[in-house]
Amino acid sequence: TSVNQYLREHIRTVMDWPAPGVQFRDITPLLQDAKVFRVLIDAFVHRYMDPALRPDVVAGLDARGFIIGSVIAYELGVGFVPIRKKGKLPFTTVEETYELEYGSATVELHVDAVKVGHRVLLIDDLIATGGTMMAGKKLLEKLGAEVMEGAAIVDLPELGGSAKLRASGLPLFTLVNFE
Ligand code: 5GP
Repeated sequence: TSVNQYLREHIRTVMDWPAPGVQFRDITPLLQDAKVFRVLIDAFVHRYMDPALRPDVVAGLDARGFIIGSVIAYELGVGFVPIRKKGKLPFTTVEETYELEYGSATVELHVDAVKVGHRVLLIDDLIATGGTMMAGKKLLEKLGAEVMEGAAIVDLPELGGSAKLRASGLPLFTLVNFE
């Protein structure tokens, strides 16, 4: 659609960052312009304000998932909970470690962030290998919540992450694909 194309045109591709050979999809131009930011947030809000898809809470993945996730939660009239990189959350947490291309990463969630049976919308800016979103899903499920959908601005389908997440039973909603 024209909205998806409009958003795509405002994502900047940075070559060789953070490492040689990487094409980084920079979403900051979407946030910087008031009109583009509104089109972006509304694309999510219009979907999740539907009573059938309205979550009980929005969970955002560190750190760009916080920027859009909190605004989406506010607009939906639901709470927001952060899933953070290890060592940042002060209260008792559950944690999940996952493999990266080189090494591993651990994410954490406060144990009282969600209630058993809560329907959670899980948000990040981009899905690459899917490892980050899968770890977030597992954390929420450890606390007995149900992740009703994962949402991101960008999907990189060639990396197989979105297919893997869908195969695990997680519905996904993304706005822009880059092959
Ligand atoms: P994954 O775990 O799916 O392999 O990687 C996705 C995570 O890494 C997300 O949290 C995302 O913010 C970050 N990420 C990886 N590559 C990119 C990129 O090209 N652009 C942006 N904006 N984030 C990326």
